[in-house]
Amino acid sequence: MFHISMNQNVLQLIEKADQDLAELVHNQPCPHCGGKLHWANYTRHPRGLSGKAIRFSLCCAQEGCRRRQTPESIRFLGRKVYPGLIVVLVSAMNNGLCPQRIAEVRKTLAVSRATLNRWRKWWLNQFIQTRFWKAARARFMPIISESAMPASLCQRFGADQLSGMLNLLRFLGPITTASQGNNLGFMRVV
Ligand SMILES: [Zn+2]
Repeated sequence: MFHISMNQNVLQLIEKADQDLAELVHNQPCPHCGGKLHWANYTRHPRGLSGKAIRFSLCCAQEGCRRRQTPESIRFLGRKVYPGLIVVLVSAMNNGLCPQRIAEVRKTLAVSRATLNRWRKWWLNQFIQTRFWKAARARFMPIISESAMPASLCQRFGADQLSGMLNLLRFLGPITTASQGNNLGFMRVV
């Protein structure tokens, strides 16, 4: 079970996922010139979270190139995508949680029950229609039940464990990029 407390720990988990995604980019050469990428992080206000947070970013060190590479991010999702991922977290945690705890989670994330229901519908209707999912689903054997999203996805990744949740968030990373984000533009949130 997911024994960590919701408040800070989940946010730390998400930050760790972002850091790992950024490290993947950092370990590669600049895609434009092959130069070395240096850290060039900046601070931003992620949607739905209070305070500032580091947006991991990299910059090519090569004179004349200096192009910025911004890795995929779980925290700085397109405004329409972020709630969908939070539903993954909430859904994974709902398993075995008492109603009081669920209420606590909803309060922490500042979402109403109606909003939560809307996000669940987003998973069931929009997510499964994305190019991302249509390409990715073939990788799962046995197939993942689309009618039980996102719980079925959580279950397959073992998201009741921290390592599984992290893997699930990494798996979902590509939907944070702009091209996929356009494909997700149905969701009306909060
Ligand atoms: Zn470069």
